[in-house]
Amino acid sequence: MAAVADMPSEATLTGLHPVARMFGAMHMATRRSMRQFAEEEIVLPEGPRKGLHFSCEFMPFMGLVLDVFDSDRFWRFWGSGPVQSGKTLLFVVIPLMYHLFEMEENVIFGAPELSMAQETWVQDVLPVIERSRYADLLPRRGAGSQGGTPRLSIRFRNGATLRFMCGRGGDEKRSSYTAPVLVMTEVDRMDEVTVQSREADPLRQMENRTRSFMATGRARVYAECTMTIKTGRVHQEVVEWGTDSRLYGRCPRCKVWVSPKREDFAGWEDKEDIITAGETGRTHCPGCGVAWTEGDRSGALETAIIAHKGQQIGPRGGVTGPVPRTQTFGFRWNAIFSPLLRQQDIATTEWRADRADTDEARKWVIQHTWAEPWELDMMDLSDLTRDLILSKVTKRPRGTVPKNTQALVGFIDLGLYQCWWNMWAFWVMGEGVLGHLVDFGCIEVPHGREKRPEAILAAMRTFRDDTLEQGWQMEGAQEVVKHRLCLVDAGYQPDITQRFVRESGARRYMASVGQGSAKHENAVWKQVKKGKGRVIGNHWAMVRQPDGRNLLHMHSDHWKGEVHDGFAAPAGAAGSMTLPDADRHDLADYARQIMAEEHKQEYVPGKGLVYYWDRVNRMNHDLDCAYGAQCGADVVGVRPAPPATPAGAGGGGARSGDSYAERKASGKWTIGR
Ligand SMILES: [Zn+2]
Repeated sequence: MAAVADMPSEATLTGLHPVARMFGAMHMATRRSMRQFAEEEIVLPEGPRKGLHFSCEFMPFMGLVLDVFDSDRFWRFWGSGPVQSGKTLLFVVIPLMYHLFEMEENVIFGAPELSMAQETWVQDVLPVIERSRYADLLPRRGAGSQGGTPRLSIRFRNGATLRFMCGRGGDEKRSSYTAPVLVMTEVDRMDEVTVQSREADPLRQMENRTRSFMATGRARVYAECTMTIKTGRVHQEVVEWGTDSRLYGRCPRCKVWVSPKREDFAGWEDKEDIITAGETGRTHCPGCGVAWTEGDRSGALETAIIAHKGQQIGPRGGVTGPVPRTQTFGFRWNAIFSPLLRQQDIATTEWRADRADTDEARKWVIQHTWAEPWELDMMDLSDLTRDLILSKVTKRPRGTVPKNTQALVGFIDLGLYQCWWNMWAFWVMGEGVLGHLVDFGCIEVPHGREKRPEAILAAMRTFRDDTLEQGWQMEGAQEVVKHRLCLVDAGYQPDITQRFVRESGARRYMASVGQGSAKHENAVWKQVKKGKGRVIGNHWAMVRQPDGRNLLHMHSDHWKGEVHDGFAAPAGAAGSMTLPDADRHDLADYARQIMAEEHKQEYVPGKGLVYYWDRVNRMNHDLDCAYGAQCGADVVGVRPAPPATPAGAGGGGARSGDSYAERKASGKWTIGR
């Protein structure tokens, strides 16, 4: 990018005093952009690229951030990233040197304690200056000279001054000095001070030192920090008040632009040793679910782009949607986007913290690897464990339907590469519905050279004809039983789902969507109002679409709770759920997927306790299948008769003893009430 191209446009200079405008234009025309400055002047003093010139090619996202610094869109820049990701270089060293040496401006360098700023200066900034041609500008003797310990300020031989400032101590230390540029490090350590007293907010006081430069558009604030807690200052600045910008990379497998997070990093869990954990931990693309190799990952990193909150990314990487109306560029990135960390390193960090099993260890990983806030008051409400789920394995072989079954209900969860499915048997006993998992599995979707959603349809047809419609063996009988209802998730590829349902027969196949509080779900649950073409049920609603097809809305929060409660309940108790005798690894994986989401409560200031489902593992398909099937059982009428209603008056309400065989003999199967 040429320096001339970075001249401020006429629009940004109008409104200034004519002299200031002229000066601004002259000033800018002779100055390079920060990106150009960094690539031409910065030599890395340490790390794997020691002695080499800084290059945006090595860490493409740094170039993107420098371009944001160079644009005139924002004047406050808050960056929060993991350790060993070039955070200090990007948000402290480069801006400091650029404003001191290229812009020849005075800079304030702020930190919670004076000694912290001075330490960062000696350890991170000075070595870079010493390797650059600006070493000549360092004072020959006294404060800040080579080898000397800096005191309160350093005056360079080009006339610019660097002034250290700290967050603590009396106001007199901060209130007299002004400069157009403020660079802050370790801002997170000032979080607590901020919470205690708004008036004494040291960050705001330091920022006020740039106030007189705001009118000329020269004021700049750069802050480097680690995420702390949700109610902390860092989270507020970056996520709530700022643009909450994130990196997106193009998945080399599905070509979708994705921004993987902690929940997408899996495979290391439950490994016996740290080496195995390191070898197996992978980023799973949030788009297609494929585990990335290091090659896939670096391919995605090379294509990195930045999108602000609320913006969308088109198939060719074009970012659309308005830029949030804020002065603060709030940017966070996680370890997946740092080329200095291998997936192996991320996996071993996670594994070690998991083994340590303390809040402190978990907090460190969440904040320092994932740049996510530690949710202080978060609580997992369910006491379900994997062992408890696995204690529900019965002697009944996989594929066998229990004798007293009233309905078999299936669920298929669509994916581009894999479709997951469950087939459950349900019957009413007393006050509750009992469920037994008859069979479960995963349909591989074969693709040609191009990935096409039609391939999903083809795979589903084969599965329907070869498996679903072949039925399942009734326990102790010759009879083969087919499913009463099979729900098909319509959240991912609604058209494919509806085509499949239509051609398979809408009497026994139906499209469904889950709605709830989990962050990955498309919509929150809203109680559907009564109306034509609508059937309102117990935490579900069947809504006729304009094209005449039905779509089942399921309240996922409720039904996930039923599944977790069902596995937590003793076998045979009302609402309990059991598993078939199957391969140990398959069952262990099934239990892990059921545990992939946790029911949590969190205290949110101003709102009180908030309950929600939190996806802790990306592989949650079997939980979706299980709760969908359970909701489907209610839809087909497998539910206890309401206590106030006389037997039989409930219409479709199934009763105890109303077995599969009896219902089949009566020939009256209806969906819904
Ligand atoms: Zn993908």
